[in-house]
Amino acid sequence: MMAQYLDIKAQYPDALLFYRMGDFYEMFFDDAVNAAEALDISLTKRGKHNGDDIPMCGVPFHAAEGYLLTLIRKGFRVAVGEQLETPAEAKKRGGKTVVNRDVVRLVTPGTLTEDSLLEARRHNFLVSYVEMRDQAALAWADISTGAFHVMPVTRLRLSPELARLGPSELIVADGPAYDHIRPLADEYKIPLTPLGKASFDSTAAEKRICALFKVSALDGFGTFSRAEVSAMGAMIDYLDITQKGKLPLLQVPEQESEDRVMQIDAATRRNLELTRSLSGGRSGSLLSVVDRTVTPGGGRLLEQRLSSPSRNLEVIHGRLAALDFTVTQGQLSEQLRDALRHSPDLDRALSRLALDRGGPRDLTAIRNGLTQAKTIASLCQELDLPRLIAEAIGNLQGFDDLLAVLDASLVAEPPLLTRDGGFIATGYNEELDQARTLRDEGRSVIAAMQKQYAEHTGITTLKIKHNNVLGYFIETTATHAAKMLSAPLSESYIHRQTTANQVRFTTVELSEIETKILNAGNQALEIEKRLYSVLSGSILELSARLSGAARGLAELDILTGLADLAKGENWNRPQIDSSRAFEIAGGRHPVVEQALRQQGGNAFIANDCDLSATDGAAIWLLTGPNMAGKSTFLRQNALIALLAQIGSYVPADSAHIGVVSQLFSRVGASDDLARGRSTFMVEMVETAAILNQADDRALVILDEIGRGTATYDGLSIAWATLEHLHETNRSRALFATHYHELTQLSATLKGVENATVTVKEWQGDVIFLHEVRKGAADRSYGVQVAKLAGLPATVVARARDVLEMLEQASRNGSGSKIKIDDLPLFAAAPPAQPAVSTAPSPLETLLKSVHPDELSPREALEMLYRLKEAD
Ligand code: ADP
Repeated sequence: MMAQYLDIKAQYPDALLFYRMGDFYEMFFDDAVNAAEALDISLTKRGKHNGDDIPMCGVPFHAAEGYLLTLIRKGFRVAVGEQLETPAEAKKRGGKTVVNRDVVRLVTPGTLTEDSLLEARRHNFLVSYVEMRDQAALAWADISTGAFHVMPVTRLRLSPELARLGPSELIVADGPAYDHIRPLADEYKIPLTPLGKASFDSTAAEKRICALFKVSALDGFGTFSRAEVSAMGAMIDYLDITQKGKLPLLQVPEQESEDRVMQIDAATRRNLELTRSLSGGRSGSLLSVVDRTVTPGGGRLLEQRLSSPSRNLEVIHGRLAALDFTVTQGQLSEQLRDALRHSPDLDRALSRLALDRGGPRDLTAIRNGLTQAKTIASLCQELDLPRLIAEAIGNLQGFDDLLAVLDASLVAEPPLLTRDGGFIATGYNEELDQARTLRDEGRSVIAAMQKQYAEHTGITTLKIKHNNVLGYFIETTATHAAKMLSAPLSESYIHRQTTANQVRFTTVELSEIETKILNAGNQALEIEKRLYSVLSGSILELSARLSGAARGLAELDILTGLADLAKGENWNRPQIDSSRAFEIAGGRHPVVEQALRQQGGNAFIANDCDLSATDGAAIWLLTGPNMAGKSTFLRQNALIALLAQIGSYVPADSAHIGVVSQLFSRVGASDDLARGRSTFMVEMVETAAILNQADDRALVILDEIGRGTATYDGLSIAWATLEHLHETNRSRALFATHYHELTQLSATLKGVENATVTVKEWQGDVIFLHEVRKGAADRSYGVQVAKLAGLPATVVARARDVLEMLEQASRNGSGSKIKIDDLPLFAAAPPAQPAVSTAPSPLETLLKSVHPDELSPREALEMLYRLKEAD
């Protein structure tokens, strides 16, 4: 056995080998040590290898999924080695033959299919990246749903695309590409899997793709670059390796391109908290507020939409038209949502069936999904539907035959496992019904026999029982057993076993019935398994269309969810065109608004924004005290543009937006210690990226750029950045700053306007009105805000004095060089005790005698020593 183990293990050096032994998966040697630690299970020993104990640990196979999940999360890959025959079969092959085993699947983070290992509402993308001399490409797939995409990328776009996809695993050719992508993968914490160069060979790749989709050429799917073909081919090869030849259902590759979606880089995603909040979770993100979908498939599609808003006007208008319809058809929309609520995850059920990892519940998932699809389609009958909805409904139809078969064949609530049987409905298959009757009759015959034996022996407590070792047997207590062993009964009752308190017998009759029951039961199970394969086969035959139906349901789920949101939150339809308009009236920040409502405090104050540009830039320079609502205002406008371009209504009274091609958002010196760069450096790297990339269709949001360095440095950088945005990038932009000096620029730069978030001062306190209006802030109210934050009163009073002095100095034209004497000493300490002598200390006297200008360096040093002594 150990020889077999080592043989298999040698083929999977990078993975933990789960070696199936009966009801357990066992691990040995280093695998055992690592797994025991990762899983917190006990490490034992089994046998010896080269004279040393072999470390061992194991997990029960029926609980393996949970352990797998932990191991995958901790960065392990697991090779699952199964027994390919029963011990009896092995024995037949010859005396002491070890049961045949082999790896049936390599479990990696990017190739999961089990519901328990996946997040229902998130895709699990496996991404492959290819670099060739002059081209590069990304392909990505979610084998749990069949989604398959490919696109060319430039090196510059690699990072934002990875940020968008959030892959679970990244495969790349061993060599330069691996070295190049490694830091990025580390930064995003994506498990990176190097693969041999042969997997990426584009000629072999093309053959692999053609074979998978059973076509002779790829032309029907689009025109692909060599890098794209190679990326897709490598993906398929990797799936072949990990699934051991059982290829998952993949939809035909959908080719994407950079110019079809709004480009949003990693920093912007993070900063705008699109799908994750800054603290890492889903709650507090835009997605958490927008997502009212009721199916996992709808949830996944919405997350994707939000991650890649469209730039294609036709697509956006199509979605908005469908949403208009859904919003006006309130009752229909509610009925659709009710039906959707009962729709299971068709995509994932299909994918498990295709990989032969499914069970009866996947069959019923398809049945239930199709039943709801039918209801949905009938709800929309005879309505004049917008194109998008009509297409979705069209995709839900044409499954009547399959549905009839599934309806007739399956019970309502089947068991989890095929091998338990009991999922095929009575009346569907005559042979099955007969076998079941035989089996069940046998059971009632046994009940009758028990009664008969009890009478025959006169032992009323006699029982017929069943266990896996003896099968059916008659059981009685030791005291009664003597009766049965005595003549004339002893002839009929054959002794089988004596335990501490019981004695067990059988009879010829009982053995015969048992064989019958067993045979009938086995036969019924075999028939059920066969029917399972037939049903699964009929489903898979329609897999492509079923994926279409799943997509249709997801689409309707998004639409009805967005309609619910629009009505509930009073959102309005945006107007989107190819202009460079950006005119928002009464805009709100959906996440902050919701948070305020939940806190039960003040209502959110809506604000207008107008960055409409004809030629050149349109920039609002926003000043105002901290906490006034600058960041909120900046972000809400970015989010409104983004929501409009996924085809949603927006949190505003009205919005007119010319399509935004790129969205950038930066915050001054946010802490990014996790990435190990100085905060100021990060801020500058990110600002550089914007200034190098933003064009006149971009929307740029800069929040307190330059904050991370000394005042004049910061001001200069902010100044030059604003000028560059205006002169060169010519973007639509919002620029929040605390450098009031910048407001002068609006006089010279024609696209720059000043705006401020208003506050009121009342009895020395500041009151935030959160209203944005044209003009510059008069002052920054930092001291008042500090007071609100709970700074000690003495510190606040002192800060006021210093501020006054500084302002006075600045008015007198002496800049910030005020004399230290102008500021009386810090008054925070309690008033001095009168008893203290006012005579100068020896140290003070000594200090007074020093005239630094007259000292040589050496004398200065000596003086320092003397001062130290006098202290
Ligand atoms: P700043 O960037 O100016 O420091 P923020 O945008 O972070 O200020 O806003 C501070 C807080 O003020 C927010 O957390 C929110 O609670 C509140 N706030 C901001 N804008 C509004 C608004 N328009 N209406 C109501 N409250 C707001």
